[in-house]
Amino acid sequence: MAWDFSTEPEFQAHLDWMAAFVREEIWPLETLDLDQAQLDRALAPLQAQVRARGLWAAHLPPEHGGQGFGQVRLGLMHEILGTSPFAPSAFGNQAPDSGNSELLALAGTPEQKERWLAPLLAGDLRSAFSMTEPGVAGADPTTLQTTAVLDEGAGEWVLDGHKWFTSNGSVADFLIVMAVTEPAARAHQRASMIIVPADAPGVTILRDVPTMEQPAEHFGRLGGHAEITYEGVRVPAENLLGPRGAGFLLAQSRLVPGRIHHCMRWLGVAQRAFDMLCERATYRVSHGSVLGDKQTVRNWIADSAAQMQAARLMTLHAAWKIDTEGPAAARTDVSLIKFYGAQVLHDVIDRALQIHGSLGYSTDLPLEAMYRYARGARLYDGPDEVHRDAVARQILRRYDPPPGDVPREHVPTRRIAARERFAELLETVTSND
Ligand SMILES: Cc1cc2nc3c(=O)[nH]c(=O)nc-3n(C[C@H](O)[C@H](O)[C@H](O)COP(=O)(O)OP(=O)(O)OC[C@H]3O[C@@H](n4cnc5c(N)ncnc54)[C@H](O)[C@@H]3O)c2cc1C
Repeated sequence: MAWDFSTEPEFQAHLDWMAAFVREEIWPLETLDLDQAQLDRALAPLQAQVRARGLWAAHLPPEHGGQGFGQVRLGLMHEILGTSPFAPSAFGNQAPDSGNSELLALAGTPEQKERWLAPLLAGDLRSAFSMTEPGVAGADPTTLQTTAVLDEGAGEWVLDGHKWFTSNGSVADFLIVMAVTEPAARAHQRASMIIVPADAPGVTILRDVPTMEQPAEHFGRLGGHAEITYEGVRVPAENLLGPRGAGFLLAQSRLVPGRIHHCMRWLGVAQRAFDMLCERATYRVSHGSVLGDKQTVRNWIADSAAQMQAARLMTLHAAWKIDTEGPAAARTDVSLIKFYGAQVLHDVIDRALQIHGSLGYSTDLPLEAMYRYARGARLYDGPDEVHRDAVARQILRRYDPPPGDVPREHVPTRRIAARERFAELLETVTSND
């Protein structure tokens, strides 16, 4: 009997240290309006402490300078890191650098690892992943229009295209660009990944797209989502990451574990909102009693606890499956948690905001920012509808139509079969009557 929901005491000690560290050292930074240079200065000594604890870049295997913890332990770490937008940077596994370093570790040549991965892990470079385009459906990336053509004489790829929502694109030193290199191939074998230095001629960062999460127009801050044009951009042929036409295959190996990280981070945010919901329930008095005495509020608390517990177990189970059977085996589980986890995140924050009334709606509490952040979760890394569709498709493969289109559970039909099978028994019963 191998089901086991316990955490090893040594690892739990790491988690306990992390929870206290993030709450005491990182949460206070959220209240200051720091620019990037100030934030980097504030994080540097914290990063040193994380390295000294052996918790830096835990998403990578030891041969690439990480801890090789696997997805379950990493998931438990992300649950803590998710509580603050700055915490992943203090631990060297902030998106999109974490996913990009996984890609480089998985598919990079020794030269690419030395040139891009090592400085990325050291925190000396920043990266971005440039796939979505304004003109075609990001939900179906086989429709990508950005091209990369190999100029064999010059030994260079020439890229042309228009991307947007490239997170961190305006502060990145290099971009991993998805581009069509094999136009005649089958849909999922047309695209490749190419490493493009952000300062290559022809790369133009047009703007950071203002969003619901960051409505103010700004440029060049971490967490921005850049709109970028690539016009005749030339990079050496050896900047191809992985084999030609393997872009989607590689993207899956990046996105499947990445979704576990997201879902566990969302649980961290949801827990923080849940704590606020419960705290408010203990003291706010209306119509003669504290809000925690109202049945609606008690339902919110119970429903939130149940949803978070379900999402947590589903996510950790998906992480366990990746650890034991690999990312491909966990694809359906990961699609399940992607849309379910995003909904749980939204629901818990919404209730926490509601119980605080106008205070919840104000920027005096972090709930309104959490609410805006939560909305994006239903879109990035695949919209809800696409993940629901993938789950339903996989499930329906296990089913086939019943003989004669009569449902297999049709009682009269089953009764006829049962009467035949148990004819002797029925006869005995009748003769004994
Ligand atoms: C905060 C944030 C960060 C992001 N970061 C990055 C990044 O770093 N790099 C990057 O390349 N991209 C990034 N994206 C882009 C993101 O991956 C895309 O927005 C997403 O894939 C959806 O693509 P789209 O916006 O083109 O929407 P579309 O593909 O046009 O889809 C719009 C809507 O159509 C519906 N829909 C689509 N397909 C189906 C279907 N098969 N069945 C039913 N309904 C469907 C869904 O409701 C969907 O929301 C980010 C997005 C956000 C919001």
